[in-house]
Amino acid sequence: MAQTMSVDFAEATINQYVCARCWSRLHVTYHDHQYWVECTNLNCNGEGYVTKGYAEKSRAQSYYDLMDARQNLRDIIQGANPVSKLSEAQIMKELGF
Ligand SMILES: [Zn+2]
Repeated sequence: MAQTMSVDFAEATINQYVCARCWSRLHVTYHDHQYWVECTNLNCNGEGYVTKGYAEKSRAQSYYDLMDARQNLRDIIQGANPVSKLSEAQIMKELGF
């Protein structure tokens, strides 16, 4: 959702912030005799802004989380995890059933 503001504040906003929902760049448009700051992603109707630094830090953290998840899944699928080498009966026994 777009917000209206002065042109100076709008330009400062697009230089320092990105969309809070999709982290896409923002842009300034002028219509209805007002300046609007909007997300450049046409498929986004997000509200609010986050700093570019926050978005970059969050993207980096998400990337490392993805790498961890991939490694964990790879270990499980390839049988590197000792639990996955157990039969169903053995796992149930280990769980106390
Ligand atoms: Zn957006």
